[in-house]
Amino acid sequence: MQGAVREHVQAIEACGAEAVVIKKKEQLANVVGLVMPGGESTAIRRLIDKYDFMNELKEFAQAGKPMFGTCAGLILLARNVVGYDEPHIGVMDVTVERNSFGRQRESFEANLTISGIAENYNAVFIRAPHIVNAGENVEILAKHHERIVMAREGNLLGCSFHPELTEDYRITAYFIEMIKETIV
Ligand code: GLN
Repeated sequence: MQGAVREHVQAIEACGAEAVVIKKKEQLANVVGLVMPGGESTAIRRLIDKYDFMNELKEFAQAGKPMFGTCAGLILLARNVVGYDEPHIGVMDVTVERNSFGRQRESFEANLTISGIAENYNAVFIRAPHIVNAGENVEILAKHHERIVMAREGNLLGCSFHPELTEDYRITAYFIEMIKETIV
């Protein structure tokens, strides 16, 4: 609805999978995984409410279908958001803090080692959140300067940065593998 939708579509197609842009909640019944893109979490949340998506999104996650939140998408998935009384979708057992890399570094690139996915991964951070706390079933996949920037909890994957903005498609390919595991 908002944010880096087109870039995710491109990354998914580059991995040989079919991407569908979701504009109506009814479409969720026809997809096997869902990417919540980066953008602005407050703006995306307004659109989720306006188009009455919230229950369907929660049910999608609770049904065990893979969801991948990137940047603002991670904020939407998180069970707790620092400074907010209520989460958004609130299905992933992590606490995130918004815009947590300081003003002077609002956008930057960093080289990450991502457990089981990539060494030397060049990650693009744009006013990025980070994971302050992760529940016991959450697998921490990457850190940047001791801060958690990528994690997985079962069918839920989240990262602080924007994997769709580079031509390194290893993370999108990993998410597609997660989906394949649920449909075979
Ligand atoms: N700062 C944004 C937010 O809080 C996230 C930025 C992004 O997705 N690149 O929603």
